[in-house]
Amino acid sequence: MRYTKDAGPICHSLSGVDVPYLIVTTRAHQADFNFIDPKEHTKESLPEDKSKRTVVLTGRVHPGETNSSFMMEGFINFITSRTDPMAAELRKRLVFKILPCVNPDGVMAGNYRVSMSGNDLNRRYLNPHPKLHPIVCAVKKLIKEERPDISARGECPILAFIDMHGHSRKKNVFMYGPEYPIHDTRYI
Ligand SMILES: [Zn+2]
Repeated sequence: MRYTKDAGPICHSLSGVDVPYLIVTTRAHQADFNFIDPKEHTKESLPEDKSKRTVVLTGRVHPGETNSSFMMEGFINFITSRTDPMAAELRKRLVFKILPCVNPDGVMAGNYRVSMSGNDLNRRYLNPHPKLHPIVCAVKKLIKEERPDISARGECPILAFIDMHGHSRKKNVFMYGPEYPIHDTRYI
């Protein structure tokens, strides 16, 4: 697809399976991003993502929650649309780093909630083991990537981290997230 870049597997799972990783964005336009030094980049070599904040999306960390893949497919179809002006604007302003299936071992094994190591990967972010939980380490590394140009503007390089799940009791679509005061800039 025109607006996607197959960044290759972000890592291998415990059983050696590729963990898919996709980047969706458009190249920065000099007119839109004045802070790009024209001496450093020609029009053709303007950076894809150095000037833009990132949205990270992950799905299927809990293998039994197949609705996560359903939502992820819908989002990928939307954000890669050639005709939707909202998608075009989002690609222009942001970089979408998408990991549609972060627990392929669990999916293949038919687990409901855990990985090949028998752990709930969503409960391993504080202290992941590089051998047992390689995807958790890879996602943390992705989020911590150095983005000095954005940090210099006083902004957090990650605009949002969206982790798609299903729920055993709640119905319809809903979101959990951190709560800030109503006018806090972190909502923007
Ligand atoms: Zn879940």
